[in-house]
Amino acid sequence: MAKTVRKAKRALAKAAVGRRQRGVKGVKYVYFFGDGKADGDRSMRDTLGGKGAGLAAMTNASLPVPPGFTISTDACSEYYRRHGTVSPAIDAEIRRGLRKLEKAAGATLGSTKNPLLVSVRSGAKFSMPGMMDTILNLGLNDAAVEGLKARTSNGRFAFDSYRRFVQMFGSVVLEIPKEVFEHEFVAVKRSKGVTLDTALDEQALRDVVHRYKRIVRARSRRDFPQDPHDQLTMARDAVFRSWMNPRAQEYRRIYDIPDHIGTAVNVQMMVFGNSGDRSATGVGFTRNPATGAREFYGEFLVNAQGEDVVAGIRTPQPIGELKKVMPKAYKQLREITARLERTYKDIQDFEFTIQDDRLFMLQTRNGKRTGYAAVMIATDFVAERLVTPKEAILQIDPGSLSQLLAPGFDSKEWKAIPVATRGLAASPGAASGQVVFSAPDAVRWSDAGKAVVLVRRETVPDDIHGMFVSQGILTATGGMTSHAAVVGRQMGKPSIVGVAELEVDEGSKQFFLNGQTVREGDFVSFDGLTGEVKLAKVASKPSEILQVVSGHRAATKSDIHRRFMQILAWSDKYRRMEVRANADQPDQAEIAFAFGARGIGLCRTEHMFFGEGRIPIVQRMILADNEADRRVALQELLPLQRKDFYGIFKAMHGRPVTIRTIDPPLHEFLPKREDLMVEIAKLGGHSGTGPALERKLALLRRVEQLHEFNPMLGHRGVRLGITYPEITEMQTRAIMEAACQVAKEGIKVTPEIMIPLVGHVKELRDQKAVVDRVAAEVMQERHIRVKYLVGTMIEVPRGAMTADQIAAEAQFFSFGTNDLTQLTYGFSRDDIGKFLRVYQDKKILDKDPFTTLDVEGVGFMVRTAVELGRRAQPGIKLGVCGEHGGDPSSIHFFEDVGLDYVSCSPYRVPVARLAAAQAALAVKVGD
Ligand code: PEP
Ligand code: MG
Repeated sequence: MAKTVRKAKRALAKAAVGRRQRGVKGVKYVYFFGDGKADGDRSMRDTLGGKGAGLAAMTNASLPVPPGFTISTDACSEYYRRHGTVSPAIDAEIRRGLRKLEKAAGATLGSTKNPLLVSVRSGAKFSMPGMMDTILNLGLNDAAVEGLKARTSNGRFAFDSYRRFVQMFGSVVLEIPKEVFEHEFVAVKRSKGVTLDTALDEQALRDVVHRYKRIVRARSRRDFPQDPHDQLTMARDAVFRSWMNPRAQEYRRIYDIPDHIGTAVNVQMMVFGNSGDRSATGVGFTRNPATGAREFYGEFLVNAQGEDVVAGIRTPQPIGELKKVMPKAYKQLREITARLERTYKDIQDFEFTIQDDRLFMLQTRNGKRTGYAAVMIATDFVAERLVTPKEAILQIDPGSLSQLLAPGFDSKEWKAIPVATRGLAASPGAASGQVVFSAPDAVRWSDAGKAVVLVRRETVPDDIHGMFVSQGILTATGGMTSHAAVVGRQMGKPSIVGVAELEVDEGSKQFFLNGQTVREGDFVSFDGLTGEVKLAKVASKPSEILQVVSGHRAATKSDIHRRFMQILAWSDKYRRMEVRANADQPDQAEIAFAFGARGIGLCRTEHMFFGEGRIPIVQRMILADNEADRRVALQELLPLQRKDFYGIFKAMHGRPVTIRTIDPPLHEFLPKREDLMVEIAKLGGHSGTGPALERKLALLRRVEQLHEFNPMLGHRGVRLGITYPEITEMQTRAIMEAACQVAKEGIKVTPEIMIPLVGHVKELRDQKAVVDRVAAEVMQERHIRVKYLVGTMIEVPRGAMTADQIAAEAQFFSFGTNDLTQLTYGFSRDDIGKFLRVYQDKKILDKDPFTTLDVEGVGFMVRTAVELGRRAQPGIKLGVCGEHGGDPSSIHFFEDVGLDYVSCSPYRVPVARLAAAQAALAVKVGD
């Protein structure tokens, strides 16, 4: 861990040095906002972080924002470069910012008459809910607390604020475990015979503060700092440090947020939602972020401080109630947030505080939403003329579209099971699995191949890894904007929160629900769209969109399908690259076509060999020890392959279909050596007799002959076609016979025959000769001509580096980035899982290179091959069919190098269509 942190810190520090070397003189580190004017603006998220930029924008728009200043992300880089301090110049700038803030607030830090209290909050460019630290009520000390009491005439409030501050400062800055304070707090409540925090009077709270300070002295070997300027410096540094805490790092890893960008720190005048019954604090969204519905959405707590809502410890009231309790503030809030939505042209996620009936806005940012909501909102926005279709497609994270294709429950089966309880439907989707009660258990169980549902009283940011692997998240407390809800939605995990009837005992790993006990390992299922929870295992069924696509539901009966297709149609107007699918069966090709794939980029013919009843024929072909016997078996495979190709050609309605000749090593079609040995032993071993045994023994002999030390580098791909040309012959015949048949039916057909794993032009030349010969034979026999292409995969580094020579023979290239990554890095595709995590923890790799293309290395190969190939044959058709073809960030790279198409799995086709449009518009969405 220590090493990991050192690495990331170095990256941050390097960012600072880079800036200095580029000669940026007089970098500004502190940006003031207040009195209707801010130094920064909404475009400055890199420097001010999302929160700082939002505060600046709201201030500039004359909204009621408490004044403050933002210490920039550049200061964070400096902090790491200077090993945990900032330069005197930055300190001086902060002092100037503070003086300006004191003036705007009309209060002074540490004053005994009118003390200024501030919040100190983190705020990175990308929101990382709950991952970093926050300190409230800073500025209080033994003298200032009396000043606060005098100013507010409320001793209880003053000392409650002080005890909260000591606790927060103690745990965040001085790193004393929170529980130590909580334990003490409970002890005081018990000694006073009360259960509610609010039942403690001023005297009791004075006692709590006294005890807390004792804890600080004992645990940190220093007195609680009384100088508010020291407090501020220490808090600022703690926020900078929290950028590197393990949960923040884990979060960045999951969401691909770079380490080097750092966080800003916002220092802002405190306003108090906990100063009495005319005060409140809350959070909300301008539309429902789970369903996209056009409703004002959020929650609040009367007489509470901000963290109480987000932490999910008290279950807040729905925001509609605010209209009854504080109608004036509610009206103003609605007006402001509607205006913010119009200004930002996007759904807003906001935080507010009402202090003695006066509304203050504390934050606004574009709201995170589920994939479902993203589609609903974008199409609504266009209908409302708030955005253009082009702007609408730039509001949707392409990856989130997959959520709309995720399964739901079969409604009949679901309805037949009684509802055990209901909670707040925080994130839609069907979840079913075995109950676990902690994040580490969720990880352990899912590593063992089990589907789990994580049940917690409330989730905390540390649970992120457990939430990530769970089917869904269920919590007993919390509202729609609690941690579980926010993070669940963002991850696209079905989540239900605030299930009031749920009594969770995490210690004994069980929960109680209306007299029933549910233990770890029992099954639970829930629907994150309706909030219903059931105590049973329930199978799920395809999403509504998939039902329409597969013809099981009428398109006219699905609003979401219409909107989904609308987004994709808008995307198509802006995309340059074609989108094809990797499909091996006619039914897959049909789904792909329905999702908008206009061609097959990769048909892995060997997958057809695994079809029903085919494996014995394939095995006979492999077992043959002479060409004549091999041809007999191949002859049996021919009609089967022909039928498959015929189906795929028809499903693609004349669009190009790229069919690859056999690729994997032959042993993959034979049983495993160990399994054969067991079966042979059962049949009497080497001393036994009978045809079954003899067949097994022959198989074993062939398996042993075919054994390779490194099969991925062995007898596979084009090498098979070269050693057994009769296989290429049979496959070409099957392709061309099917194509001729389709053509004779008057349907357009465009076969593209692709030779895999070519590293040397002569390999391709050899196979092309076979293909051309057989194709000519077939067309002559059938008396019809069909235009076909012969091309190759570029997936061996030598092939990429000699792409000009290869382009002289090939009519197209398709980049096989799976093998190209494997062979460029030398990482086995099948074994990287054993060490990838360590590589990521040590920051050697940010991302899995088999998911997101390594632009620097593998991308260099691709770019070089594109340039060489085009130099030799300017019009050569170029595509990609590795897994990266469906990955949005890799798609941007493929756009950049000018490929003609990307090809991906049928279910990724919508993602690729949207990502390709965004790539053509050069806008990355989703980071
Ligand atoms: C590739 O290597 O990228 C590819 C598409 O082929 P396969 O995954 O079948 O090796
Ligand atoms: Mg390959």
